[in-house]
Amino acid sequence: MSQVLPATISPTLFAERADAIVTAAAELAAFGWTPATSSNFSMRLDNELAAITISGRDKGKLARDDIMIVDMDGKAVGTAARPSAETELHTQIYRRYPAMNVVLHTHSRTQSVASRLFSKDGVIRLEGWELQKAIAGQTTHDATLEVPVFPNTQHMPELVARVDAWLDAGKPLYAYLIDGHGIYTWGRDMPETRRHLEALEFLLGCELDLKRLGA
Ligand SMILES: [Zn+2]
Repeated sequence: MSQVLPATISPTLFAERADAIVTAAAELAAFGWTPATSSNFSMRLDNELAAITISGRDKGKLARDDIMIVDMDGKAVGTAARPSAETELHTQIYRRYPAMNVVLHTHSRTQSVASRLFSKDGVIRLEGWELQKAIAGQTTHDATLEVPVFPNTQHMPELVARVDAWLDAGKPLYAYLIDGHGIYTWGRDMPETRRHLEALEFLLGCELDLKRLGA
């Protein structure tokens, strides 16, 4: 499935973003966070377009031609390939946050279990953890970092509306979980987004350990 580049996107830019996605995907797959072809990853190309993983591929074995271009409504551009069903959740972040350039979505066991455990509260409140400072803009452990847990659905407009409602209420949002599903987080570049994802995975694991210990 070949990707025809729009005139506004240079081959160098597309190759650079596609390679960054492929590398990140392989590393996250090696952690076991992308089981059974799940998860999806994207990077902004410009204000109109983003590069995103094609649906259904093994995220540990991606190559440059497993990455396709979509517009900010999540529609394929210059290819017959099918983007992930969840593409709209990526493009929503790019539309709502002009400074954000990367979105990572994984399905780790820790993320999945935490999403089930905290779904009744609709939110996980992280407090008192030093690693909260790994999230851009957080400067102290002495703060509350809210990560909402939205109900899962196969109907993406419902999830898009829940994310919009949270943002429209003026609440900070660095990441969200989907019940029984996984996590979404984002950042200005790949290293920042990786840092967010790794910190959240670690913190969710800590919260689960506290529950197991009855704390
Ligand atoms: Zn997913």
